[in-house]
Amino acid sequence: MMICCLDLEGVLVPEVWINVARKTGIKDLLLTTRDIPDYNVLMRYRLKILKKHGLRLPDIQRVIARMRPLPGAKTFLNRLRARTQVIILSDTFYEFADPLMRQIGYPTLFCNRLKVAKSGLITGYKLRQSNGKEKAVRGLRKLGFEVRAAGDSYNDLTMLKSANRGILFNPPAAIRRKYKRFPVTRTHAALLKQLLK
Ligand SMILES: [Mg+2]
Repeated sequence: MMICCLDLEGVLVPEVWINVARKTGIKDLLLTTRDIPDYNVLMRYRLKILKKHGLRLPDIQRVIARMRPLPGAKTFLNRLRARTQVIILSDTFYEFADPLMRQIGYPTLFCNRLKVAKSGLITGYKLRQSNGKEKAVRGLRKLGFEVRAAGDSYNDLTMLKSANRGILFNPPAAIRRKYKRFPVTRTHAALLKQLLK
């Protein structure tokens, strides 16, 4: 019995933080998990930048509300969900994800929560567990599923390695070169084919 685990940003929707950086003009927010492999280092850096610029959760939510899924992502997800169960495993936060989930039909999403002060300033974040993507895949395998996983970044590699089959979707060149064991897909049509193979 098969189940698919998908990364969210870079696979189904654009990078949230890059959009926030562009809309606010804060270039320091352009870095993502594609650039900095250590998620905690990246998040601590982002929170410092938000504080410095006085950017609050509602400001970020306004940017996200105007974002759209990647072209073709909704059709891809609908087709995949018609064939198999799908769980989105993301390092984003429920506070960010909602407007995007609405546009792709509210698939099951495992992610994290932000800590927000009354003022709306983001003071921290709570990971449900460390290395959540990998643990979710291992848990699903223990439940008897054959897991196929797809992602684009450093924070997906443990998920891809622990799955029965891992697939890269539009990864940066450095990841593509270093992890040749994973097939690389560049379109949602190709990804669908690989996941259902
Ligand atoms: Mg990603």
